[in-house]
Amino acid sequence: MGSLYLSRLKSNERDELIRKLWETQNHKCFICGEEIDLEIHKIDIDHVIPLKIGGKDDPSNFAITHHSCNRSKQDADLRIARILHNFSKISEKTLEKKGNAPNLSDVFAEYGGAKYKLRFKIDGNAIKFSFPEMGDNTIYEYPIFEDRLSGFRYFFAVFPIEYLHHDERINPRSIGKNISKLIKEFFLKRPQLHITLGYIITDNESSEIRVFDGQHKAAAQVLLGVRELPVRVFVNPDLDVLLTTNTNAGTTLRQVAFDKSVQRHLGSALYIERVERYKKERGLAEDDYSFSEADLVKYFRGESREMKRYILDSIRDWITHNPDNKLKDFIDFGGRAKEKPLSYSTIEKTFYSFLYIEMHYKHP
Ligand SMILES: [Zn+2]
Repeated sequence: MGSLYLSRLKSNERDELIRKLWETQNHKCFICGEEIDLEIHKIDIDHVIPLKIGGKDDPSNFAITHHSCNRSKQDADLRIARILHNFSKISEKTLEKKGNAPNLSDVFAEYGGAKYKLRFKIDGNAIKFSFPEMGDNTIYEYPIFEDRLSGFRYFFAVFPIEYLHHDERINPRSIGKNISKLIKEFFLKRPQLHITLGYIITDNESSEIRVFDGQHKAAAQVLLGVRELPVRVFVNPDLDVLLTTNTNAGTTLRQVAFDKSVQRHLGSALYIERVERYKKERGLAEDDYSFSEADLVKYFRGESREMKRYILDSIRDWITHNPDNKLKDFIDFGGRAKEKPLSYSTIEKTFYSFLYIEMHYKHP
């Protein structure tokens, strides 16, 4: 978005602003972190926090970047763009070195993780350890639990990333592009829901903590500057069973992705939550619905794309579960069970494809 503030500056005032920002930023580009030479480089001044989500149009919210970095930025919010740029750099480096996309070990390598083994002691149903390599000699003690059916033993703890190592055998996948969504999610201070999984082998008095699940969440947080991660650590697990379990979770069980009808339902619930919030924050009465979907999209302007999706989800969800919907009895919501003639995704691809939202609203 353009800047009224900048458009009003005279050329010498603009030069002065650039020099000031250049000094504050230690002569570095806000996005790539490389040097800016005021005479050689083409330079952009941009808002760090976009105006669209409430950033100010004044010098406190300006940063300078290389012109090319700003043109190729992966997010309008420069703070996120900077992190996504860092990940792109790691991707390029890994591709050059190993010929493939990066995984958690490449991110750890860049941020000083995966350095040490954990020295520990197991005392009956408790594990004790400390982090002497980090200068932390506190003795931490955690209870060891047992998984009722499998008999697997495990404990929960928070570890500095220096002690965490990626396990490529159980988790051979690389980090996908969708990590950028997670990075944004965490950046917006939404908490991590599922914790990372790892294991230790107690043959010796020290072992690497090998992480085999949750690498996207771990990597996203490390990229955002987090230095400690919560992990559920299995103690001496049968590694082949872990491998099978992890593979099944991602394939036959499809635990990783929700069924579409569940997604729609979740979207619908989020929509209802936003409607309630809107009424509360605008001081509207309980039964006052004198506002439109467009008003909601406008009000939650930082997440207008999501709002549009929630609205569509809620319409789909409302039709799907409406008592008057006679088709409902013939739809298989589970997706793959094939006990009923129609799958939910068939319904989406046919009937629901006629639904769309058109919303026009002007930026003030
Ligand atoms: Zn740059």
